Amino acid sequence: MEIIQASYLISSPSVDLCPKPDRPEYAFIGRSNVGKSSVINMLTQKKELAKVSRSPGKTQMINHFDVLGSDRKKWYLVDLPGYGFAKVSQNQRKSWEKMIEGYIRKRENLVNLFVLVDSRHEPQELDLEFINQMGEWQVPFSIIFTKADKSTQKEVANNVNRFMNTLKEQWEELPISFITSAEKHLGGKKILSLVQAMN
Ligand code: GDP
Repeated sequence: MEIIQASYLISSPSVDLCPKPDRPEYAFIGRSNVGKSSVINMLTQKKELAKVSRSPGKTQMINHFDVLGSDRKKWYLVDLPGYGFAKVSQNQRKSWEKMIEGYIRKRENLVNLFVLVDSRHEPQELDLEFINQMGEWQVPFSIIFTKADKSTQKEVANNVNRFMNTLKEQWEELPISFITSAEKHLGGKKILSLVQAMN
């Protein structure tokens, strides 16, 4: 499946204000600068789609995009505000947590959450913590390792293995993971195959 149409729909400050849950929904999250916009742009084949989520006032919102696949199925792609901003206040962090928890636990049409992790780094506490929380909430999620072109294949494989092995200490079943490079347009097809299979 390819995405043949994608357009920005709406930004919502809480799950209760999100669009009617009348179609499957897939959300993307990760720490700031992980490459989330680049992955979303790669999947949708649009250069600046995810840019709207960055305009002032929308960065802390749940951003919905209308998507149509080549299989004629409609779904929502959701760009969630990332974690790990250095300069947010305690209050902002609390309100982020509240919004994300509400969205993730209450959004009934959320089929899968994609958690993005930078493949250049060894396992980071912040990512592991977030993923462990998803496991505890029993949300279906997958991991997308980003920016694979920035290191050697060996380094990427090492970081991915270490990350997954760390998760293994806690969880019996490991999530599906993808390795991507938005720069080199790698990994997008596999992600869309999963979406198609889950849709
Ligand atoms: P976001 O803050 O998570 O949405 O991250 P962006 O998509 O804006 O990416 C952050 C920075 O990383 C930008 O300078 C991108 O050009 C760069 N970047 C993102 N993905 C890739 C990738 O796959 N390869 C390389 N080399 N750079 C990337």
